[in-house]
Amino acid sequence: LFTFDEFITHWAEDRPERLALREEDRVYNYAELEDRTARVASALLAAGLVKGDRVAWIGKNSDLYFTLFFGAARAGIVMAPIGWRLSPAEWAFIVNDTRAKIVFTGPGFEAVPEQLAGKLAHDARIVGAGEARAMIDGAVRAPFEPSGRDDAVLQLYTSGTTGNPKGAVLSNHNLFALRKHSADSDLAYTKWEDDEAVLVAMPCAHIGGTGLGVMALVSGLPGVVLAEFNPDGVFDAVEQHGVTRFFIVPAALQMLLLHPRCASVDYSRLKYILYGAAPIPLELLRQCIKMFGAQFIQAYGMTETTGTICMLPPEDHDPEGNARMRSAGKPLPGVEVRILGPDGDDVPQGEVGEVVTRSSNNMIGYWNLPDATAKTMTADGWIHTGDAGYLDDDGYLFIHDRMKDMIISGGENVYPAEVESAIFGHPAVQEVAVIGIPDAKWGETVKAVCVAKPGMTVEEADIIAWARDRIAAFKAPRSVDVIDALPRNASGKILRKDLRAPYWEGYE
Ligand code: ATP
Ligand code: MG
Repeated sequence: LFTFDEFITHWAEDRPERLALREEDRVYNYAELEDRTARVASALLAAGLVKGDRVAWIGKNSDLYFTLFFGAARAGIVMAPIGWRLSPAEWAFIVNDTRAKIVFTGPGFEAVPEQLAGKLAHDARIVGAGEARAMIDGAVRAPFEPSGRDDAVLQLYTSGTTGNPKGAVLSNHNLFALRKHSADSDLAYTKWEDDEAVLVAMPCAHIGGTGLGVMALVSGLPGVVLAEFNPDGVFDAVEQHGVTRFFIVPAALQMLLLHPRCASVDYSRLKYILYGAAPIPLELLRQCIKMFGAQFIQAYGMTETTGTICMLPPEDHDPEGNARMRSAGKPLPGVEVRILGPDGDDVPQGEVGEVVTRSSNNMIGYWNLPDATAKTMTADGWIHTGDAGYLDDDGYLFIHDRMKDMIISGGENVYPAEVESAIFGHPAVQEVAVIGIPDAKWGETVKAVCVAKPGMTVEEADIIAWARDRIAAFKAPRSVDVIDALPRNASGKILRKDLRAPYWEGYE
């Protein structure tokens, strides 16, 4: 089984009555999911769309989104979900980039036609949630040719942490191959038991959201959809809907911990918490391990690799023996990882370089960006991640940071994530980001930008001393700024480029 059409028809025959999709009180079993997605495919083809055409989604997570995406994918029509937190101008940029024939909007996004008026460069029909549900209910099932293994089905935009978002085009094979191989492997934590249910808590415009919905489908298990991340929604899903796994980013884990309900939730059904997409401060991870009864799995990957390519297994999450806890884990079955130096050759074992990877997860390419595709993907299929990291003797990958974020101070390489992790445990610090700022003597020096905990004050000298107690002096910040909130994008990643900008004016 390697396509949406194959998985959906398979589970509809195997377990028609089993819950497939839930959002609030809307529930669909696998037979209903099969029927509704076939109607979506039929309706889109009847409306004149053909294989390879794009449709877009602007909205929060919804059962409607997954029904439209899965249905379109069955017929090879490519879904491009767009982050709802972006501005209308950013929506228009992406809609224009996709050339989507139809833009579906989620509940609550009734103003989109007005917000996009005059901004679109091509004819796109905008279809509201009510109209889309009526389209599905009223559609007549007609036979269609299902998309093949290598046909594009999903166009996911990168988070735009380092520049403009780029549309990574993913095929059936990209979405299913690795997930299926991992599920079939002997790694216990990648296998899903039959009594599990998975929570989609991250935005569907990111692989950490959409990918989890696909994971549920691979295993024929229920996917529980949260319109948007909020601690109560997660706690309720765990207590009331039998959710056994979810994936969230480190910033969201911290929001769970800070929530007053956190300590009194019944976590007995929860098996695994997956986290990743950004470096996690060690102290935060320790606090989480103490709080939740679940086992922890770190995921490392990127949009261009259809999400996870490395996982740090639960057994490496020992809060005392913490060397391994800093790792992003080991490549999943079928994933190759190498570390290259500036000259493009493999660096000696244990040395830091650029992480490159090859697997059936690697995207087809960026949409309409041949130069960016050629820069990121080699002819023989290796993706350059742009991340700095190294492999230890046991094949564990340690991610330092993005190559671009590395600070070179007096000839020494400093990786912001390590400094952030050291400062994070300070009692007055709620959040911290570390950047390099220009310096006549050292080239760059390390600056920490902190957000204070409510009612606390962050003192520069105190933070510097705290850091010096924990990491080498050249890595400790030379200066500390305090601001109200860190700039983050919709996937919860710190926008270091925005933090750096004011200091580098006139330099870069
Ligand atoms: P853009 O490519 O548009 O600048 P982005 O790289 O943030 O945005 P994503 O594809 O969502 O877009 O994120 C992938 C990146 O996230 C990786 O290249 C890596 O830098 C970071 N990342 C993912 N997982 C981890 C992890 N477990 N630990 C540290 N960093 C991670
Ligand atoms: Mg990227």
